[in-house]
Amino acid sequence: LILLRTLRDLVKERNIRERKAVQIGFVPTMGALHEGHLSLVRQALKDRHEVWVSIFVNPLQFGANEDLKKYPRDFKKDSRLLKKAGVSVLYAPNENSFYPVDFQTEVRVKSLSAGLCGAVRPAHFAGVATVVSKLLMQVRPHKLYLGQKDFQQCRVIEQMITDLDMPVRVRRCPIVREKDGLAMSSRNVFLSPSERVQARVLYQALNSVQRGVDSGQRDAFKLKNGMLLALKNAPSGVVDYAEIVDASTLAPMIKLRPSVQVLAAVAVRFSAARLIDNILLDIV
Ligand code: AMP
Repeated sequence: LILLRTLRDLVKERNIRERKAVQIGFVPTMGALHEGHLSLVRQALKDRHEVWVSIFVNPLQFGANEDLKKYPRDFKKDSRLLKKAGVSVLYAPNENSFYPVDFQTEVRVKSLSAGLCGAVRPAHFAGVATVVSKLLMQVRPHKLYLGQKDFQQCRVIEQMITDLDMPVRVRRCPIVREKDGLAMSSRNVFLSPSERVQARVLYQALNSVQRGVDSGQRDAFKLKNGMLLALKNAPSGVVDYAEIVDASTLAPMIKLRPSVQVLAAVAVRFSAARLIDNILLDIV
């Protein structure tokens, strides 16, 4: 595992790969790695790419009252996991050189960033789009690996890549879950033992939507109410949203149709962690 801390060193390594025509698969992360992150690495290896991972806790995507300072960090453990997984390059730039004091540019994907998480985190997706643009310009990967766990983030980045003709392909990878269904997240460590048990309701609520669909329900409003009812089983959680949306535009649905791919998505705030989860619905 080669550890790179500066753009200068990154460019040097990248140019060597260019000459050898090595195919690079890139997995951007904020560290505190778990099986979800590693599943992206494994997919990239399976696709026969040399795998590059970045660890950078991006300040631009955190709001003023969010957990930037407290975000979990364990660089030693992360590097050990990446080395074991077969990653070739770890890029972990220093914040001040990545964003010098005169940094001014913002990349913003308009309507896809507005709803769902964007409604409660207004600057978040511009922060994500900006950091991912910059990382893609630096790393110049052939393929970008993203987790469906952050479905809206996938859509924002995919749209940005399309709109700006960025020469990279995207692969969305499925959500990796704990045994009880909770989607793996670096923030799960912030849950109290009682909240950890309650956190199961996110996936349970999403599955209740699929069951509703299976029994013929096509009314998004009714499905959404069912989801909200299920989420009541987590008394310590505050629901940010529970929505049924078009998986491409992320616009709210009224009536479900098999011709449109539909996403059920939830966000619930516990005392020290805001959790998100989603499923693509099977509609026949
Ligand atoms: P993060 O470090 O949280 O910014 O996540 C880095 C990448 O890992 C993103 O593409 C996430 O969507 C993905 N990821 C995070 N958690 C999971 C999970 N449980 N399953 C699949 N992918 C995930």
